[in-house]
Amino acid sequence: MPISEFSVIYRYFSSLGSGDAVDLSVGDDCAILRLQEGERLATSVDTMVAGVHFFPDSFPEDIGFRAVSAAASDLAAMGARPLGMTIALTLPEADELWLNAFSQGLATAVTQYQLPLVGGDTTHGPLAVCVQVMGALPMNQALLRGGASVGDRVYVSGTLGDAAGALAFLQEQWQPEPDHAEFLLNRFNRPLARLELGCGLLGLASAAIDISDGLLADAGHVAAASGVRICIDTDLLPLSEALRSRGCKETILRWALTGGDDYELCFFLPADAAAPPGCTSIGHVEAGAGVDCGMEIDIPAGYQHFSD
Ligand code: ADP
Ligand code: MG
Repeated sequence: MPISEFSVIYRYFSSLGSGDAVDLSVGDDCAILRLQEGERLATSVDTMVAGVHFFPDSFPEDIGFRAVSAAASDLAAMGARPLGMTIALTLPEADELWLNAFSQGLATAVTQYQLPLVGGDTTHGPLAVCVQVMGALPMNQALLRGGASVGDRVYVSGTLGDAAGALAFLQEQWQPEPDHAEFLLNRFNRPLARLELGCGLLGLASAAIDISDGLLADAGHVAAASGVRICIDTDLLPLSEALRSRGCKETILRWALTGGDDYELCFFLPADAAAPPGCTSIGHVEAGAGVDCGMEIDIPAGYQHFSD
């Protein structure tokens, strides 16, 4: 028997909403979140549409976890402390098996990021997941795109290009050996928002952005906003063993430079600063404009939803 909208909300989305900053969660017209003295609200929203941002037949756990990670990554890139999120969910049908697995993916993310689900909206239509995140920032601090200055070093967290390598594998463009395939698929399906790193960079980094559209495109946003030139040394790019196993250097570098969906952070520190654990220095900032990686490579503007 099909279940009602209210049963869906009650069964699958009403138990993930408690947290330190939550005064009122799912069930009323609004949720109420509490900021501490001297804090302000940072907020961002990200939509994932089936067939555009994920394969419609992906595991529902992964769809849920990945949608939250993508949205939470924007909080990380600002250095914000997570407070809570709301989710607008559009479903073709109220399939309880699917909903159960999807909400388990959400639950994992809620725990992992300490980002309670405090409200949302549930509608009927083509599958889409829209996650709105809220975080707290000190009154006078934030990691903005516009703060990089000449002489800074450029850093990235984690490894780059893994999601692009996984996508190429899913599209049958290459066949990694099984444990490398597993690693890459996990990076694609279960990306981790770098929230702790982002909070730790507040007051230290001059600028930051999360890499959702590819390093060159996203570093390009920082270069434009900061009015500087960003020089990247491709020999320094952190690459996973699984990605290296592709063999072809040109393909690997293209994935690492232009592949989206890694959700690592790209940030900027003064030249004398030490690299945070798990992060790699990949270049420096000069006077000028644009991003230079020392090779001829098209800098895609990221995925453009309304281009031909
Ligand atoms: P309203 O009509 O006032 O917008 P709804 O009937 O849409 O309220 O939702 C009832 C309650 O359930 C609200 O508190 C809303 O935030 C919450 N809610 C609805 N859908 C979701 C969802 N997918 N995830 C979390 N909370 C939800
Ligand atoms: Mg509503």
